[in-house]
Amino acid sequence: MIKDKRFYQFLHKQIPVLTFLSVFPGLGYIFLGWLYDVHLRAIIWYIMILLVSFWGFRLYRNFDFDEMSRIAKQRWYAELSYYYYAFFILWTVIFILYAGETESNLHYIAIFTQIGASVVASTLLSSDKKLFTPAILILMIPLVIYFANIGEWYGYVLTIFACIFTWVLFYSSTSSFNLLMKTSFQASHDLLTGLHNRYFFIGHLQETMNSLKESNHYSYLLLIDLDYFKTINDSLGHDIGDQLLQEVSTRFRKIVPRNNLVARLGGDEFIITGANYETLSECQKKAMELSNQLLSALKEIYVIDRHNLYISSSIGVSLIDASISDANNFIKEADIAMYEVKAKGRDGVYLFNKEMSERVEMHLEIERRLHFVLEKNEITLNYQPQYDKNKKIIGTEALARWRNEKLGDISPVDFIPIAEQTGIIVELGNYILKSGFQTLREWHENGIHLKQFSINISMRQFFHSTFIAEVKRLARLYLTEELMTVVVFEVTESIIAEDIDKVITIINEIKSLGIRFSMDDFGTGYSSLSYLTQLPIDEIKIDRAFVNALEHSEGDQAMITTILHMADIFKLNIVAEGVETDAQFDFLARHDCSIFQGYLFSPPITKDKFSQLYSS
Ligand code: C2E
Ligand code: CA
Ligand code: CA
Repeated sequence: MIKDKRFYQFLHKQIPVLTFLSVFPGLGYIFLGWLYDVHLRAIIWYIMILLVSFWGFRLYRNFDFDEMSRIAKQRWYAELSYYYYAFFILWTVIFILYAGETESNLHYIAIFTQIGASVVASTLLSSDKKLFTPAILILMIPLVIYFANIGEWYGYVLTIFACIFTWVLFYSSTSSFNLLMKTSFQASHDLLTGLHNRYFFIGHLQETMNSLKESNHYSYLLLIDLDYFKTINDSLGHDIGDQLLQEVSTRFRKIVPRNNLVARLGGDEFIITGANYETLSECQKKAMELSNQLLSALKEIYVIDRHNLYISSSIGVSLIDASISDANNFIKEADIAMYEVKAKGRDGVYLFNKEMSERVEMHLEIERRLHFVLEKNEITLNYQPQYDKNKKIIGTEALARWRNEKLGDISPVDFIPIAEQTGIIVELGNYILKSGFQTLREWHENGIHLKQFSINISMRQFFHSTFIAEVKRLARLYLTEELMTVVVFEVTESIIAEDIDKVITIINEIKSLGIRFSMDDFGTGYSSLSYLTQLPIDEIKIDRAFVNALEHSEGDQAMITTILHMADIFKLNIVAEGVETDAQFDFLARHDCSIFQGYLFSPPITKDKFSQLYSS
């Protein structure tokens, strides 16, 4: 039997109904008792009814589903059962007392009220088999015995009728009970997997937390998300996806201990609450043990419709203690930990900690403040010089800097991805373009003549519908045709993930202005020879990770010489970024790298410092 919130609420609501149905008809007995001079019995009985009703009133008042722990609820339920039994026993008592009053015909009234009480018991308590079965028996057995004891033929007929009536009562209560069980099963379970659903889970979690508050124990929450489930769903169809989820649920059932609760939150997200543990360390140990067990069990091969499928999962763990009273808070913590796993490459488990939530807070804070960044003029551009083999400045890369009054300096590594996610990058990117173009023009007019002026273009900005028009507008506004050929847009390999024809169209459209394109962070992403031949790019920037590893790794040396060789074949310019040592510079120069950028020469510097450096 599923004792969920609705079950308890249903029984709770019956308390006043039953009290009402007893206290008022009970007055009738007092009246009759007075009429036929049998009042003492009736009054004693009625006092008992009032006492039991008072008990019911207390039970009614002491119930608060959301605040009660599991044990408190069990206790409450047990007491409620006794209360109901007491009520029906009292009705049977009055029946026995008046059944013999044949002279005053009070026995007729006793019989009718007894039948009425049975009907009431079977309808009011139909939500709980454990309650209505004894109640019907308590009420009907004395009646059957009474009829059988009459000794006349009509008594036997009545006995048979009473038996049939008892059976009818059982039958109707049982069928409404079964119906109720079915609907409450559906309301609390996930139809696809048969696991508990979100609705039930939240109630269960709240209950667990109430228990922990009483006992000062600990428990855990595991949030499990399947990795790349969407890909399977999209490529093989929802039918296969559904079967996979069912198979996953079967594995859960096998592994998760009985005293834990597994629920499907929706999609490919599952959640588990643990049992209660006395110490935090034991709780943590158990949570990690179960997580690792699940990780490896879920990773085993699935054979569905002759497809061999592999799927890993990401698990976020949060530990539940009595100090926090909001169930959603723990789910949020597990969620943060789970996203941390996703961000770190999936297929793993993380325990939530404070730093994680601080990171998330910081992320949100950056996101909030990013909206006002242009309005408040907080973005500036720094310029990192680029050098040729003779260590002469021939170009620069513009790099965004953000100084916020509250947060201080925020690295582009932190805010550019957030600007991308939120779409602010479009507006921000346009501002960077404008500001860069203005500087290029200004420098040109002041005698600073560069061969190239690189600006980073993020993927979302690149694909935005207004990008081409905006570049054209700004270029015509601030640059001459000659200066346009100095501009280089740096894009990353991630753009290749999109429709390649679209990428080529956009690049060509902008190249018609004279602006060139550079492949940034080359070698870290989707690098493939085939797109190098397809994309109309002019330059490659070797990622600083390779340059950095030059001295230690022969593999990276080979990689760089290969890239340089390739660049030569495709007639591409090569920029080495992140050059920090003379040895790196020498190696690259020896292998015909043409442009160098890095701390060996200069970090990114302000606009004014750049002019000074150039002039000296
Ligand atoms: P990136 O395009 O690869 O930029 C080069 C980064 O390497 C810069 O970091 C630069 O300061 C750093 N760097 C330069 N020389 C050295 C060196 O010798 N050693 C080391 N270890 N690092 C060096 P920064 O300025 O923090 O920029 C980080 C990233 O943020 C950039 O990587 C770029 O992806 C993004 N970004 C910066 N400015 C913009 C912008 O205006 N627009 C867009 N879309 N992205 C930007
Ligand atoms: Ca760059
Ligand atoms: Ca780069």
